[in-house]
Amino acid sequence: MISQRAWAELDLGALRRNLSAIRSQAGPAADVLLVVKADAYGHGLALVASTAERCGIHGFGVRDSSEALTLRDAGIGRPILVLGTVVEAELTACIEHSIELAIHTSDRVRSLARIVRRHAHRMARRPRVHLNVDTGMGRLGLPADAAPKVLDALLDTPELELAGIMTHLARPEGSEHPFTAEQVSRFRRFLSHAESRGVRLGRHGVRVHFVNSAGLFSPMADRGDLVRPGIAAYGVMPRDLPGAARLDPVMSLRAQIVFLKDVARGTTISYGQEWTAPCKTRIATVPIGYYDGVPWRLRNVGCVLVRGERAPIVGRVTMDYVMVDIGKIRNVRVGDTVTFFGRDGSSFLPVEEVAKAVGTIPYEITCAVGPRVRRVPLGEPALAASEMPGAVPVEGAAVE
Ligand SMILES: *Cc1c(COP(=O)(O)O)cnc(C)c1O
Repeated sequence: MISQRAWAELDLGALRRNLSAIRSQAGPAADVLLVVKADAYGHGLALVASTAERCGIHGFGVRDSSEALTLRDAGIGRPILVLGTVVEAELTACIEHSIELAIHTSDRVRSLARIVRRHAHRMARRPRVHLNVDTGMGRLGLPADAAPKVLDALLDTPELELAGIMTHLARPEGSEHPFTAEQVSRFRRFLSHAESRGVRLGRHGVRVHFVNSAGLFSPMADRGDLVRPGIAAYGVMPRDLPGAARLDPVMSLRAQIVFLKDVARGTTISYGQEWTAPCKTRIATVPIGYYDGVPWRLRNVGCVLVRGERAPIVGRVTMDYVMVDIGKIRNVRVGDTVTFFGRDGSSFLPVEEVAKAVGTIPYEITCAVGPRVRRVPLGEPALAASEMPGAVPVEGAAVE
């Protein structure tokens, strides 16, 4: 069962504003393929996609067939592209549900064609595939010298429709780093080659896409006719890039205090006794731990918001619980909300700050928010009435 005492509040108004900022940044020449892989960076796949569908988003980028089919099950009818790769066993389901696939081997061209020949009678249209070319990311994508051969194989395969040509940018600074220009020029060289082979590029032909959030929010002469932002929609990054200042964070990670106790100077807290009370204080126990996405490395360094004020995390973060020193905050009660990142009234604890404190990137923090944490759209009650503090006695109740 999903815990009712820890939740991720999702500001769908912020999501809509971010999507509209993305739309205007993309301009009239480009459509938006919103990247919702990894459960929409931890925000909840179906919730984000259904909101985005109503905001004029052209389509969605996912990691694998299971995410793609989850979107179809949620009633999403727009184009869905598996950005990464699928294993052979997933191919048939993808084809049957009109899921578009990225291609980075000629083997895959052949195996898809074989499946199409076997299932042709059940298919409304030919599967649409996107040729993924590696211009410097070094992850998936065809090495530039192998790409022309696979393009030829694709053009000779009538069972498949070439729907797009893509690459992926490696630098988080977008065009503010010279390597991005290098990647774009390698990509352009391949696109010219494709045109020389008779490929018609553009909105009404084969889509050209290579721009992620960093590319979208840094100055670029040409962004192709489809852009693929992810993190910008969630309002997390790249807020330090020009034009991205209007992005608003969507997620706030919260839990409610279940236990309060006064401790004497010298009392140690949590595993390994890594924190000792320097004076008499009051400790709150909060039912959310590293399984739920609170990084273990926040031990003794992180802080949270309680009643709009910052309070330090004390001792080690455990699997299910975190302890917080609220000795300096007045009137804290069992049932009060604790915010691990995001907004708490007019106070704000940026997820970027949490990421920095533990030496990671904000992507990892929102993606790590676990399955026990309920995703709750802002404005909806986080807890059912029967779970409100007071209605349910909390074991080992408050020290007042
Ligand atoms: C994740 C991903 C994106 C989105 O990147 P952001 O930095 O979140 O904007 C775009 N394209 C591909 C291929 C990706 O894997």
